[in-house]
Amino acid sequence: MVNEKVKIIEVEDKKPKPDPNGLMFGRHFTDYMFTMDYSTELGWHEARIVPYEAITLDPASMIFHYGQTVFEGLKAYRTEDERVLLFRPDKNIERLNQSSERLSIPKVDNEQVLDYLLQFISLEKDWVPSSEGTSLYIRPFIIATEPHLGLSPSSTYKLIVILSPVGSYYPEGINPVSIFVEESYVRAVKGGTGTAKTAGNYSASYIAQKKASNNGFSQVLWLDALEKRYVEEVGSMNVFFKINGEIITPALNGSILEGITRMSAIELMKEWGLTVTERRITIEEVVKAAKTGELEEIFGTGTAAVISPVGLLQWKDESITINHRQTGPLAKKLYDTLTGIQTGKLPDPFGWTVVVK
Ligand SMILES: *Cc1c(COP(=O)(O)O)cnc(C)c1O
Repeated sequence: MVNEKVKIIEVEDKKPKPDPNGLMFGRHFTDYMFTMDYSTELGWHEARIVPYEAITLDPASMIFHYGQTVFEGLKAYRTEDERVLLFRPDKNIERLNQSSERLSIPKVDNEQVLDYLLQFISLEKDWVPSSEGTSLYIRPFIIATEPHLGLSPSSTYKLIVILSPVGSYYPEGINPVSIFVEESYVRAVKGGTGTAKTAGNYSASYIAQKKASNNGFSQVLWLDALEKRYVEEVGSMNVFFKINGEIITPALNGSILEGITRMSAIELMKEWGLTVTERRITIEEVVKAAKTGELEEIFGTGTAAVISPVGLLQWKDESITINHRQTGPLAKKLYDTLTGIQTGKLPDPFGWTVVVK
């Protein structure tokens, strides 16, 4: 089935492209969307590229009531020689299927969906912006569409992919963020849905995010749900600590989302000969390391910002600053290397990038 040409319904009037300077995240969408349906009888079928438009759903569709849905996020980058690259898209489709498994959604054929994705991006290539730091954000998602209020998995689904040109996350250069350590709300619990990219995890975190921003912090650091001691993630990013030369990141424990940027950062740092340890780490250990002067850097990893250094951490009444609120050398090197590979400025010895033809 792979390499079958996807059916395209041509759009009549193409939209003007937005100003590449000052693009806001997820506000502009391209001319087309990709879509595919699932039914018990036909499985995943009717892959097609259609004009980007509103969709009509029965108000009883299960997505609206029980949140049976999963999503992904990745980016297409334009290189200086006008090629378009995706970064490890196979990993996103793998993770989409892992999320689907948790949400009782039928899996897609990885290779076929990757092939469809490449055909879709190829059609929308002109929408991949070229200014420094910009990219085309790709948002695949699956929703349960059966009109039925029963508490059981839907028998029909829609997979949709929409595309959004996005600006640089750091228009003024990388700036370390301030973080509030959240002690009452939790993001995820072992055995729950934290390892899946599913809508409810994010809407449930807004309240803590709002509390942090009301207090002047830009993100939340999440602790484990049981003991409120072990560090899990920062905002919707994975988190790394550099303490006394060693790089530590929370081990995947059944409530942490396995980031592709996390995975890539670990591989890079190991390649550089650094010691990277995946283990449990308590907030007390981090604060103690800050006090003894051993805490060198903290940074988050994720597709949106790639690397996000942390300059300040507020835990109870302890306020700790990290690396004088400056971006540390490791965060900088990771950022430069990852974005260099993603945009084709640096060679890709790992074979992470995929060229859109
Ligand atoms: C998407 C996401 C990440 C980062 O994953 P990447 O694949 O690196 O973009 C981390 N934590 C959460 C909760 C996420 O949703």
